[in-house]
Amino acid sequence: MKRTKIICTLGPATDDPAVIRRMLKAGMNVARLNLSHGTHAEHEKKLKCLRSLSRETAIIADLQGPRIRTGCFKDKIAILKAGAKIILTAKNVLGDETLIPIFPSSVIKDIKKGEHVFIDGGRIKLRIDSVSKGEVRGTVIEGGEVGEHKGLNLPHSKLSLPSVTAKDMDDLLWGIKMGVDFVALSFVRKASDVLKVKKIIKKKRSMAYVIAKLEKPEAIEDLDEIIKVSDGVMVARGDLGIEMSLAKVPVIQKEVIEKARIYSKPVIIATQMLESMVKDEHPTRAEVSDVANAIFDGADAVMLSEETAIGIHPVEVVKIMTRIVSEAERSIQYFANTDHRKFSIDFSVSHAACSIAQELNAKAIITFTESGSTALRVSKYRPKTPIIGIVTRDETLRKLSLYFGLRPLKIKPFKYIDQMIENAEEGLLREKIVARNDVVVLTAGIPVNIPGTTNLIKVHKIGAQLFR
Ligand code: PEP
Repeated sequence: MKRTKIICTLGPATDDPAVIRRMLKAGMNVARLNLSHGTHAEHEKKLKCLRSLSRETAIIADLQGPRIRTGCFKDKIAILKAGAKIILTAKNVLGDETLIPIFPSSVIKDIKKGEHVFIDGGRIKLRIDSVSKGEVRGTVIEGGEVGEHKGLNLPHSKLSLPSVTAKDMDDLLWGIKMGVDFVALSFVRKASDVLKVKKIIKKKRSMAYVIAKLEKPEAIEDLDEIIKVSDGVMVARGDLGIEMSLAKVPVIQKEVIEKARIYSKPVIIATQMLESMVKDEHPTRAEVSDVANAIFDGADAVMLSEETAIGIHPVEVVKIMTRIVSEAERSIQYFANTDHRKFSIDFSVSHAACSIAQELNAKAIITFTESGSTALRVSKYRPKTPIIGIVTRDETLRKLSLYFGLRPLKIKPFKYIDQMIENAEEGLLREKIVARNDVVVLTAGIPVNIPGTTNLIKVHKIGAQLFR
């Protein structure tokens, strides 16, 4: 079984249920709905299709965040030539090669002389020469063709845009109504951006977890606090590589993965992982190395964006990614980094469970997990022993699909510890994960059914008498 989880963005290329079924078979673990594109009705169709095909696959609703975009052009596009003068305007007018309308219009007032503006993934670069009310004037440094509704990045500007826009709020409430498992928040700048969304989710009595997308320099400055309050993080390398020096992206990737391990949070590596497969049949050698290196760094999940959303090989790209991660997993060092947070019962118990399992060559580590946190802590120690996440709720079952090395298993509800073990044994034997007399290491929190208390280890022989 592959341990690294694969997230696939659903899009026009995955509209046929047969394609999604084949992607699941090929190794997709989590589906991402990119709310920057499409309507709620289109996303609902995808969500319902996926739910009808899989009980275990989590769904991430990825909110657009305070994304700045170009408006419309007289000729649908504008060709910007290097050295040409250009005006960015707050007015809702049709643009051309001398004038670009931008939205939300309020950002115009945040742009200062000497700053740079990047358009369409950083392909086009402008330098701002002067600012006046409602418009800024600049020079094209790197030119090219600009289309309508293309993203703008203003890495040097102090933007006053809200972290959660009116569109995000609408999309968030839709996602909550649809029962999505994770909400990804774009352009997070500080921990309070995440807390704001968590508060809304809690108020709506939703179980959705929040993933902070790290793509702004401010987020990297507040990294520890953001990781602490989030339920997971994504290294969103597309925008990060524009907002910060491209050369810093691999270093930040390693730093984020290491910090996410310390705080026991899942980490996703995203964007352009197998980009050439949007149009080609094969990835480049460099892309294959990039995916493998994310696994060597310690990522929980790797993400496909355009490759599956609009690419011509949505199934094949998942198959190739599965092959790359499976090969990389064969050569990673399991349970090598044995440092853990001292004086913390839950971390020590999880660490010890991995250590015992390794010493005894146990068949599996069985983690009973109410919210997913016990299972995630064990997973962060990267034991070689397979980890089974035992749950009683569908919401937790799906969340585990994001965490490295975890195989989720839903069992009948229980009230007492011996009933918990009996029900788990029944499920494990039914699924042929273990056989009678196999040695497993159980870890759980007692009293049972209370989230966040990992305090028990039991070495157990399947079929042996329990406590009575
Ligand atoms: C990114 O910028 O890398 C990213 C994942 O965000 P999005 O695809 O939403 O732009």
